[in-house]
Amino acid sequence: MKINTTSRRSFIKFGAAMTALPSFFVLSQKGFAQEAEKLAETDGMALALGYKEDTTQVDAATYPNHSNEQVCLNCALYQGEDPEWGACAAVGNKLVAGQGWCVAYSPKQANS
Ligand code: SF4
Repeated sequence: MKINTTSRRSFIKFGAAMTALPSFFVLSQKGFAQEAEKLAETDGMALALGYKEDTTQVDAATYPNHSNEQVCLNCALYQGEDPEWGACAAVGNKLVAGQGWCVAYSPKQANS
């Protein structure tokens, strides 16, 4: 009796795919969680850029051109519409505080 090997192979591939599916979703969720990581002020990138979650806490002596009106929320590198936290390309797309600031601050243009 001849066994249909194509069907058996397809069944095995389908089974393997179904077994791997939960792992895919777990990894995907982990990936999203990593994307949503908040930048800590103690992070090396944050320290190098003088990042503060609260713009009023920026050291004026170190950054004399800073003003409290300069916040991540009105910086050209701030991504998204959430006023609390948004991703920033200057810090590897970690989340920065809407009221934060760093030395890479660049004001949004009026039409952007
Ligand atoms: S580059 Fe702009 S959005 Fe990013 S941390 Fe600095 S001030 Fe905030």
